Amino acid sequence: ASEPRLQAIDPSKLSITKTTTPKQLMPNEELVFGRYFTDHMLSLEWTASDGWQESRITPYQNLSLDPATCVFHYAFECFEGMKAYKDKNGDVRLFRPDKNMARLNRSSSRIALPTFDSEAMIELIGKFTKVDERFIPSARGYSLYLRPTMIGTQKTLGVGPPGSALLYVIASPVGPYYPTGFKAVSLEATTYAVRAWPGGVGNSKLGANYAPCIVPQMQAAARGFHQNLWLFEADGEEYVTEVGTMNLFAAMKTKDGKKELVTAPLDGTILEGVTRDSILELARERLVPEGWIVSERKFTMKEVADAAEEGRMLEVFGAGTAAVVSPVRNIGWRGKMVDCGLEAGSEAGPIATRMKNWIEGIQYGEEEHPWSVKV
Ligand code: PMP
Repeated sequence: ASEPRLQAIDPSKLSITKTTTPKQLMPNEELVFGRYFTDHMLSLEWTASDGWQESRITPYQNLSLDPATCVFHYAFECFEGMKAYKDKNGDVRLFRPDKNMARLNRSSSRIALPTFDSEAMIELIGKFTKVDERFIPSARGYSLYLRPTMIGTQKTLGVGPPGSALLYVIASPVGPYYPTGFKAVSLEATTYAVRAWPGGVGNSKLGANYAPCIVPQMQAAARGFHQNLWLFEADGEEYVTEVGTMNLFAAMKTKDGKKELVTAPLDGTILEGVTRDSILELARERLVPEGWIVSERKFTMKEVADAAEEGRMLEVFGAGTAAVVSPVRNIGWRGKMVDCGLEAGSEAGPIATRMKNWIEGIQYGEEEHPWSVKV
């Protein structure tokens, strides 16, 4: 997809109003994902006639919107999920923020919301994370989850492009996804509900893509599975796409004994994960020299099941910002359980473990790398 033309933001026009009632920090072990927020928020308003207005860091506060505001009726909403990390020197680092901003611009332009200058926005997010720096726990595995959000704010029930929008960023301190070490998950291969389809918006991070996934998620949970593995049926095949809110990787031996790390291609039906991209790049740099084949290609659930059946399955894992990697123990598919190759008593395979260590090493600045951006 071509990158949208970006609208200007002037990052020097920033007003900062500090809270007079600072919150008490939560003890690290009591942090629950997305439940507690920092003292401040960053917001920018946009109008079709005047473009982006001056940005503001203000105390975290409610929004006040007319009940007819278009976001409530026609889902003019898109968002991002990214993290700020504190390194051992106390510096704050973002991980590949350019990727998240580019994706937010692709999402917003898909639903007739405005685009924005990514670099200016990264600068503003950097200032915001510095203002609320005290909320970033310095322990390894902890971070500040950032939620950039854009909504259409025009007051109208008419269905059309919003004439005004709000871009805001809130931040939530989070703990490690697996506080006591990896816990491998079970997936339910799902075809009774379809998350995305060719020509649809599965590759955009729209709020409207997420609400419809909750009922299938509850159905899978009722059958004892942690997440849905979204399959897409075409040409009489069931293609593996992604899982819950993660991209999926499978490490399998080919029939002629080669080791292959495979993930679905960016064909418009999966989200272009930042973690997915990072894993592919690290795999090409560090696994290919060990003899691995790294593939972005369509693959089917039958291929996965055959590999398991024939003893060629090495490991399967999800990949996303929240957990970095999430090892998969097995996949329920057509009434049987496909075993994903973890040894008894093991919660993660070697590739998932190495990828997590490599990526976290970069995120926490232990390995100097251009992906880690000091703010
Ligand atoms: N797929 C979906 C549907 C997601 O919501 C996410 C989380 N953003 C991902 C994949 C993983 O993307 P990322 O690595 O950028 O977090």
